[in-house]
Amino acid sequence: MAEFTGKNILVLGGSRGIGAAIVRRFANAGAKVAFTFAGSKAAADALAAETGAEAIRTDSADREGLLATVAGRGALDVLVANAGTLVLGDPLTIDGDAIDRMIAINVNAPYHAAVEAARKMPDNGRIIVIGSVNGDVMPFAGGAAYALTKSAVQGMVRGLARDFGARGITVNSIQPGPVDTDMNPADGPMAGTMHGFMAIKRHVRSDEVAEVVREPVAHVRRA
Ligand code: NDP
Repeated sequence: MAEFTGKNILVLGGSRGIGAAIVRRFANAGAKVAFTFAGSKAAADALAAETGAEAIRTDSADREGLLATVAGRGALDVLVANAGTLVLGDPLTIDGDAIDRMIAINVNAPYHAAVEAARKMPDNGRIIVIGSVNGDVMPFAGGAAYALTKSAVQGMVRGLARDFGARGITVNSIQPGPVDTDMNPADGPMAGTMHGFMAIKRHVRSDEVAEVVREPVAHVRRA
């Protein structure tokens, strides 16, 4: 039997980047995995064909659609809220609607999805949100709203961990530094600036983040 055989797992935002690596990690270890996507249908279909995971088009900014997708997966052992966007720019000129959409995807969606998942989640389930180091530090200009969303995730997981802890459900945020994805390519224009702030000057790979996501799922201490 593979490591995660029988585990029912939903990854929000699994078509590309970190989310796709998380889908691969769990699907290759025997889990029953579904993932959502919004725009990247070809990538989602290819990943589904590769891994056997189920791809579900669900825009995280559509709360009703998101709740229906989460509820439709039944009793989830693991929810990974990975879907996120990055909107950078001068706060004096940036499009307010783009900021509100980012907040809907990065903050509102993980909250509502986590609560919905918890309704049917068995004891010792796992809720994992992909935050960011920018929840703690914002070392360059133009990132205030993104930092806002990732700081909000910190408060969210601390609170939900209290709400669901009596059932053995853990709620954690993983806060990567730069990860080589479409959102933040290792050869992108910001890479040199970012590496300047870092002790080890490289982007990590998405599969390295997926290994960190695996940890709380692999280690369940039953009460
Ligand atoms: P990518 O842009 O490479 O991929 C984003 C993924 O999220 C895609 O699968 C995309 O699907 C999905 N997604 C985006 N918007 C929506 C939406 N409205 N509804 C459903 N799915 C959506 O980003 P990364 O893989 O780099 O980032 C993943 C997470 O990690 C984000 O939360 C990000 O903030 C965080 N992070 C990233 C870091 C980095 O350096 N890359 C560092 C720290 C944290 P589709 O294309 O189908 O819409």
